[in-house]
Amino acid sequence: MSTSLPPKEVVCQCGHSFTSEQHSNWCSKCGRQVFYDPKDQRKSRINNIYFTALIVVVVLFLTYFFIEMILTPVLTNLR
Ligand SMILES: [Zn+2]
Repeated sequence: MSTSLPPKEVVCQCGHSFTSEQHSNWCSKCGRQVFYDPKDQRKSRINNIYFTALIVVVVLFLTYFFIEMILTPVLTNLR
């Protein structure tokens, strides 16, 4: 998805400003992602929270799976 937008001056959190024609760009000074539209910045932050939550759920599930499928049979056999 690389729709061309009219060139716009965007300012990074580090203070570096440059012209962007994409929805999001990488700051050439600090490497942070800079968004064309500040709304996209907020959306991306929410997406990051969802993504982190998803990883936590997957890790918890794997831990549960590990305990249930591997640890419990091993401990049961030891008794
Ligand atoms: Zn920057």
